Amino acid sequence: MSREHKQIPKADILAIDDTPENLALLSQMLTEKGYKVRSVTKGSTALRGAKAAPPDLILLDVKMPEMNGYEVCQHLKADDRTRNIPIIFISALGDVFDKVKAFQAGGVDYITKPFQVEEVLARLNTHLTIRHLQIKLQAQNSQLQQEIAQKTAAEDKFAKAFRACPNPIAIATYREGQLLEVNKSLLQMSGYTKAEIIDRNILHLYSPQDSEKYHQALQKASLQGFVHNQELNFLTKLGQIKTVLLSLELIEWGGTKSTLQIMNDITERKRLENEFISLVSHELRTPMTSTIGALDLLNSGQLGILSDRGKQILKVAIRNTERLTRLVNDILDLERIESGQIAIEPVQCDLQPLLIQAIETMQAMAEKAEVNLLLEPCSVSIRVDPDRLLQTLTNLLSNGIKFTKPGGVVQLTASLEGDRCKIIVQDTGRGIPTDKLDSIFERFQQVDASDSRSKGGTGLGLAICRHIIERHNGKIWVESVLGKGSIFYVDLPRTHELTE
Ligand code: ADP
Repeated sequence: MSREHKQIPKADILAIDDTPENLALLSQMLTEKGYKVRSVTKGSTALRGAKAAPPDLILLDVKMPEMNGYEVCQHLKADDRTRNIPIIFISALGDVFDKVKAFQAGGVDYITKPFQVEEVLARLNTHLTIRHLQIKLQAQNSQLQQEIAQKTAAEDKFAKAFRACPNPIAIATYREGQLLEVNKSLLQMSGYTKAEIIDRNILHLYSPQDSEKYHQALQKASLQGFVHNQELNFLTKLGQIKTVLLSLELIEWGGTKSTLQIMNDITERKRLENEFISLVSHELRTPMTSTIGALDLLNSGQLGILSDRGKQILKVAIRNTERLTRLVNDILDLERIESGQIAIEPVQCDLQPLLIQAIETMQAMAEKAEVNLLLEPCSVSIRVDPDRLLQTLTNLLSNGIKFTKPGGVVQLTASLEGDRCKIIVQDTGRGIPTDKLDSIFERFQQVDASDSRSKGGTGLGLAICRHIIERHNGKIWVESVLGKGSIFYVDLPRTHELTE
């Protein structure tokens, strides 16, 4: 209010009265109070002045020769430039003054001569304040309309992009995961109709094995607002699995905290990638087999005795060829397990003989590395594919040995926990940094880039293990303390349905 009061004295008043004495009186009264006053004695002059420089308020005498106050008022109201200026009529006591006519013509108020200073000022103040607020309201209104127009335009653009986007997109509530909106591409990929999928839980669209991965992505998004390119298995209506890269962003949708989920279907890209890898690996196998044969022949001495330097170089060649063979075999293995070409054939078996076999297989390696292998006895019967479980255990034991110093221990234990079986491979090796505990189960992920060279690994072993265990409906994870050692856990259902 104080700001408005300060502005009001600066207002520009146009006073119209055919009596110069009246005008002089009014002008003096108002000028003293700080108003800027323009005085005219004729209606026509007033109209010209008002149009040329519209005042903030007009004081208009009713009774004037030529053009009376009502007429002047009508003219002012007919012109856009002057229409909104508040007009206060002035009438003399004893004059015939038609109030109704004055208001109908567009006047906002009237004062009577002789003037009472307080009354004139009070009415002036009131109408200037009203006018001021009206102008402010109009400005706010037009700004609001502009904002609404901008928002509508933005929503239009989003709706168009949403509809036309070749990427499948879904919008779901953040808390419950209830699907609020999906685009055409998503319906095409999933095979659902809109009516079938709206209001259902978004988890219907992802493979049940990935629900934990999905929740982790959601949690990450809630911390940083978004997650980009999280690989997930998408489940179609017909039960087909598609690989998607999911980008998830938190948005506000109809006043509800929601997630915008944009997918990139990479199923075909992955298939081609795998096909390419397996093709190249197959092609590499034959020349590699003949190289190994040739190196073995050289090593046997049948082609003559090599110099010491020659023997040394041959050793390096054999070591590297063995590594290459391991890599090619691992790639092919992973590809076959991933694509389901290697069938998982579970049978009911005793775990203990399998654990013993795993230990025996790794014994030579452990002795060479001067690492002690320990096995805790157990009597557990479990339904697994014995060859694949053996492959997993030898891989974990081999890693344990590789990353443990001479004199260290790698221990294998198994126990029953309800209807689940837990197998543990614990070492006293170098340990794994916390930020790598998850990623080492991905392809070609190693704690140290030099691990493959120095330890002869391929970075695929744990990815293979994870696939095997997940196909058994189990879980594999690791806990570790740097410099102290790592514990790999394999958790399996004792009897299970196979995962596709
Ligand atoms: P690799 O053939 O390289 O051993 P894996 O997939 O089996 O491939 O393991 C990936 C990486 O995880 C290893 O290169 C190593 O950096 C780390 N790692 C695995 N097992 C252990 C372990 N027991 N102790 C320390 N690091 C390990």
